[in-house]
Amino acid sequence: MKILTLDIETSPNLAHVWGLFKQNVAINQLMESGEVIAFAAKWYGSKEVKFYSVHHDGKEEMVNAAHALLSKADAVVHFNGKTFDIPHLNREFVEHGLTPPAPFKQIDLKQIVAKQFRFPSNKLDYVVQRLNIGKKTPHTGHKLWVDCLNGNDKAWALMRKYNKMDVEVTEKLYDRLIPWIPSHPNHGLYGDDKRVCPNCGGPELKKQGKAYTAMSVYQRYKCVDCGKWSRGNKRLDVTPITDVR
Ligand SMILES: [Zn+2]
Repeated sequence: MKILTLDIETSPNLAHVWGLFKQNVAINQLMESGEVIAFAAKWYGSKEVKFYSVHHDGKEEMVNAAHALLSKADAVVHFNGKTFDIPHLNREFVEHGLTPPAPFKQIDLKQIVAKQFRFPSNKLDYVVQRLNIGKKTPHTGHKLWVDCLNGNDKAWALMRKYNKMDVEVTEKLYDRLIPWIPSHPNHGLYGDDKRVCPNCGGPELKKQGKAYTAMSVYQRYKCVDCGKWSRGNKRLDVTPITDVR
């Protein structure tokens, strides 16, 4: 399975506002709308973190590169990408006259974190530090974006480092969360080996107990590599009697 971890950076909307508090910005006050200014991406199992930006590559090349990478992916791992990164990229694609990239599954780690755990904060930086798996690159905050939009090379070097680091910590978080992901795209369907852990593709499944549904019993397994629970699809037993609904 080709798994791509991806993170984008966007520019802020620029608008004329008449005050600082509780502003309602009408569309004709919008001077420039936010856009994708950079993205970083990494194939699972490869060391290289790719980076493209409007500064280093130009807008069109960056957008085309994102389209090509997504089109090659079976699954895309991101943090909040279902509502942020992917729709932002899709908007760039349609604005550039591109058709949709080849379909891919999405593994949004923010949704996994929010669903499975109760951390005081579901922010990426908080969660990865709490799990001792790294931290985001510190940066100069809003000023970094302003400097980048002014074409400052040093600021862009930091943006590249920051964006690439985000992808690295996102992938590390994915590694930790693999056994916690419900309905992960099933590795047994993508590779030649069918009897593997659905979540990590590990070949060693230990029989451990049975899995019960309302009517049937199945063999239950635990993955030796990642700890994910799974079950066989062959019924070991079926009840002759079940309740009415
Ligand atoms: Zn596994």
